[in-house]
Amino acid sequence: MTTESPLATALAQLRRAVDQLQLSENDWNTLSTPRRTLEVAVPLRRDDGRVEMYKGYRVQYSTTRGPSKGGVRFHQDIDLNETIALAMLMTWKCALTNLPYGGAKGGVAVNVHDLSLGENERLTRRYTSEILPIIGPERDIPAPDVGTDERNMAWMMDTYSVNAGFSVPGVVTGKPISLGGSLGRNTATGDGVAISTREALKVRGINPEGATVAIQGFGKVGYWTAIALENMGLKVVAVSDVNGAVTGFSSVKDLFEYSQIHGTVVGAPGTDTLTNQELLWLDVDVLIPAALADAITEASAPGIKAKIVVEGANAPTTPEGDAIMNSNGILVVPDILANSGGVIVSYFEWVQDKQNYFWSAQDVKENLNKILMTAIVDVEQMAKGKNVTWREAAHMLGVSRVADAHRLRGLYP
Ligand code: GLU
Repeated sequence: MTTESPLATALAQLRRAVDQLQLSENDWNTLSTPRRTLEVAVPLRRDDGRVEMYKGYRVQYSTTRGPSKGGVRFHQDIDLNETIALAMLMTWKCALTNLPYGGAKGGVAVNVHDLSLGENERLTRRYTSEILPIIGPERDIPAPDVGTDERNMAWMMDTYSVNAGFSVPGVVTGKPISLGGSLGRNTATGDGVAISTREALKVRGINPEGATVAIQGFGKVGYWTAIALENMGLKVVAVSDVNGAVTGFSSVKDLFEYSQIHGTVVGAPGTDTLTNQELLWLDVDVLIPAALADAITEASAPGIKAKIVVEGANAPTTPEGDAIMNSNGILVVPDILANSGGVIVSYFEWVQDKQNYFWSAQDVKENLNKILMTAIVDVEQMAKGKNVTWREAAHMLGVSRVADAHRLRGLYP
C-alpha cells in the first residue's frame, strides 16, 4: 500500500510511536484526533473588482501542553487533511523541543504568485478576521510557513490589534523586528537545519569541511540553510525550486539574488540545469528536502545516494520512502527535529513580547543551540537505547510527552 498523503503519513508515524511506547487504545484515540478544526470562506476583492472566494483553515491539533502554535500556509494545494497533518506534526515538534505549546497549522488555498501586494494584504486581513475568535497570545499563535512571511505577520498582528483596541504583538510570531519580532527569527529554521546537519555529520564521522550538500527548495528555509551550512564549511553544490535544479554556481547569495529578479534559479549565469529527480539522486554527503510534502517516495528513495538526509520541509518523506532510506543505511534527521529552529525562535519571540524585553542576537543564537542540542541528544540516545530510527525516537519522545500531559490533566468532566 502506498501512503502518499501527509495525513496518512502522519497517522502511520503516530500509530508506530503509540505501539512502540505501548500506549493504550484510549491514548491512541485522544492523540489521533485534532481538537479543533475551522474551515472558513475567505472573500477577496481582486484589483480588477472581481470577488473571489478562497478556502481558509485553522487546525488546533492539541492544546494539552499550552496554547497551540504553528504557521500559516498560502498554497494552492492545501486542504483540511493536509492542515490537520501539519498541525499534528507541530504538536510533536513542540513537545520534542519541550516548548510550552500544543500544535496548530492554518492556511488559505491560494496561489500567492497570482496576487498583487494589495490583494495579498486584503486576503491576509480577511483570513485573520475569520479565524480571530480562536487565536490569541494565550490561545493559538500563528507564524509564517510556505507562502507567507513577515509582511503577512505584520498585517495579522495589525488586524488582531485593531479589533482588540490595543497592540497585541504576541498574537503572531515571525513579525518584523520593529513590531516586536525577534532577532534571528528569519534565519532560525535554516540555522536549526544546519545545526542538525552538523550533528548528523558527527554521528556518521564525516568532516563538515568540504562535505557536499544538495538542497531541494530555495525559499526561506532552503536559502538560510545554504548560508548557514556554507558558514560551517560545507559546500552547497546544487539547489532547486519549482522550475528545476541548478549546479555549478559559485555563490549562493548571488544565485538567490538572481532568483529574486527572475523568479527562478534556472538559467542563472554559469550554471547547469538538472531535473528535480537528478538533484535528489546526486552523489552528495547530505540531501536536504526543503520544499513541500512527499518529495521522497518509494519512487525517488531508491536512487538517493546521500549518506544523510535532513528534512528542512515538513513531511517530505512517505513511510515507503522512509523504509527504503533506512534499509539503505541513510541517516534521516526527521522534520520535527531538523526544522524545529523556526518554532524555537518563535517561542523566544513570544516570550520577549510577553516581557517587553528584547534579547541580543547572541542570546537568541545561544538559546537556540541549547534547546535544539538537548532535543538532538535526546533523540540520538533514544534511537541508540531502543534501537530505533531517529524519526521513531523523535516521535516517541514527542508523543510520550503529550500523552503524559494528557494523563496528568485527566479527562474533563
Ligand atoms: N511554520 C514553521 C514550522 O512548520 C514555524 C511555526 C512557528 O514558528 O510557529 O515549524
